Amino acid sequence: MSLQFPFNPLERAGEVESQVMKEGKRLYYRFRPAKFYGGVATGDAVGCSFLCAYCWNYKRNLNPGRYKDFYSPQEVAARMLAIAQKNFLNLYRISGAEPVLGDRSFEHLIEIVKILFRYRPGSPFILETNGFFLGYKPEFIEMFKYLNIKVRVSLKGIDEISFENISGAEKKYFEYPLIALRELEERKIIAWPALMGDFFPHEEVLGFEEFLKDNYTSARIEIENLKPFPFVVENIKKRNLKL
Ligand code: SF4
Repeated sequence: MSLQFPFNPLERAGEVESQVMKEGKRLYYRFRPAKFYGGVATGDAVGCSFLCAYCWNYKRNLNPGRYKDFYSPQEVAARMLAIAQKNFLNLYRISGAEPVLGDRSFEHLIEIVKILFRYRPGSPFILETNGFFLGYKPEFIEMFKYLNIKVRVSLKGIDEISFENISGAEKKYFEYPLIALRELEERKIIAWPALMGDFFPHEEVLGFEEFLKDNYTSARIEIENLKPFPFVVENIKKRNLKL
């Protein structure tokens, strides 16, 4: 897949979705228990509308089409339920990719969450998303009202420039993840922003949090820490980002 920076994330989402979705099934490369949130049954997928300099799954997301294992929502939910049961876990998530690239991947996600909800209604699904598509099509969020779903929106920058440099997506799309946060709050869905703190001075993060509070969400920012894998350090250098 050819890619020039910065790119249009809507076009990229469409291209990627057509590679990672086939007849309701999505590409995954692993299912595992993970230690985050105190323990979460995790399906690792491929394919994202962004290509962040610090993405730990960068190489897979650069070229998602080389994977071959498509899983139906039933197959994904069955694996997650088995992992949760075996490891005494009460949370689920999809990691390594953007769960919501467009209509088809959204339907796949909702089917998984519906099955999990049917079997274990008290165990939430943590939707880890870059928020782009949910901000672009907020009507998608309506479905969450009927499910046990909490949303962590991973923000890539505190302004248009940092957003573009970090995510690789054109700066004019900066606001969409913020709109997603506002729409989630308006619908009373539990949601919060996350931000990679290593790129921004503390005062700028505080200022950004105030800006979010005034305009988009009352939730506190969860600060993430960079994992400096060698390829991440190289990507950061290539994009002239300062830590
Ligand atoms: S939004 Fe997440 S999955 Fe997508 S490229 Fe960025 S870090 Fe990776």
